[in-house]
Amino acid sequence: MSSIYLDANATTPVVPEVVEAMRPFFADSFGNPSSAHRHGQHSRAAVEHARSAVAKLLHASPKEIVFTSGGTEADNHALTGALQQFLDKRQPAHLLTSQIEHHAVLYTAEALQRRGIQLTALAPNSDGVIDPAAFEAALTPQTEIVSIMLANNETGAIQPLGKLARIAKNYNPAILVHTDAVQAAGKITIDLSGEFKNVDLLSISGHKMYAPQGTGVIFIRNGVHLAPLFHGGPHERQRRAGTENVPGIVALGRAAELAESWLTDEFRISYLTSLRDRLEQGLLAAIPNTTVNAAAAPRVPNTTNLGFDGIDAESLVIALDMQGIAAGFGAACMSGATEPSHVLLAMGLTPAQARSSLRLSLSRLTTAEEIDRALEIIPAAVDRLRSIS
Ligand code: PLP
Repeated sequence: MSSIYLDANATTPVVPEVVEAMRPFFADSFGNPSSAHRHGQHSRAAVEHARSAVAKLLHASPKEIVFTSGGTEADNHALTGALQQFLDKRQPAHLLTSQIEHHAVLYTAEALQRRGIQLTALAPNSDGVIDPAAFEAALTPQTEIVSIMLANNETGAIQPLGKLARIAKNYNPAILVHTDAVQAAGKITIDLSGEFKNVDLLSISGHKMYAPQGTGVIFIRNGVHLAPLFHGGPHERQRRAGTENVPGIVALGRAAELAESWLTDEFRISYLTSLRDRLEQGLLAAIPNTTVNAAAAPRVPNTTNLGFDGIDAESLVIALDMQGIAAGFGAACMSGATEPSHVLLAMGLTPAQARSSLRLSLSRLTTAEEIDRALEIIPAAVDRLRSIS
């Protein structure tokens, strides 16, 4: 049975161009980029080429790009690195974030709160979007950093980041603006010299943009100082100690080049959007008592999140897997029990509605045939589960 992969927000497939780019760096080109000899310098050149590619994708300068082990590290570095000096000096500091952030941000924020940082986590509206007026009202003279994601991993809702960053800087130019752009990179244009020129810190992750897991980037705007997360060598211009993951960095650089060319191809973007819409509309038409979560929000082109009344999404994911469809549901496994998605609860869904919600996230490789097949399989699976519940 061929498999239909509709869980690209969990991880994207690594595309052949990326595999080809990194392959030599596992065997022939093994040098440490810090070594002065030719092996090292070959790796160094590859790392710097990747840095330039990522900078170009983000409309940033290569010096502002720091490679990390992924989105989680980048998020931890942004928040902890910005607030460390206040913890050290025992000075009050406030962190403003939202309830729809990934746990890489939320749990870091809560850990900082336990160490004395004041924390506000804003609720979104019912479409999963942060209201700029509520954001402005939550800023305080102690606010040192704000962290609002660019696109949500569960609903795909795009946040009004440019506006929020402007509000924060108008309130106090010293406030640092961080965004977790893990689910936005490669899906929508990120312009750190234009629309997002007020953003100081930004996280991305390789495995959401067709590079392997364990690769990521934190963008640190020129002039912004973050305390390092790791102590060790002077790598990444003293900002991230540890010998570089050369194959991973090369892969991320190649993925950034591919993302850039994909984002300039209107046809491919509208094709992906049309496949997502066809899937969403088809499921709404075929399955009674179905709702689209965050339907009225601006969304990234590949994501839909659907609630099927009376269904347990976890059982549906298992049933679909047996039929060759990989899907996701936004839940976290806490002490052995599955908790309903904190994102959907924050949007005002009941726990039962949140538990009945399925995330389908397409990749650039998804085909119309796969969507048609999914439109046959998913309604039948929902029907079957409803009939036995
Ligand atoms: N932020 C968001 C929005 C994510 O979706 C993810 C991964 O799911 C992360 C951060 C964590 O990134 P990584 O898996 O690279 O640590």
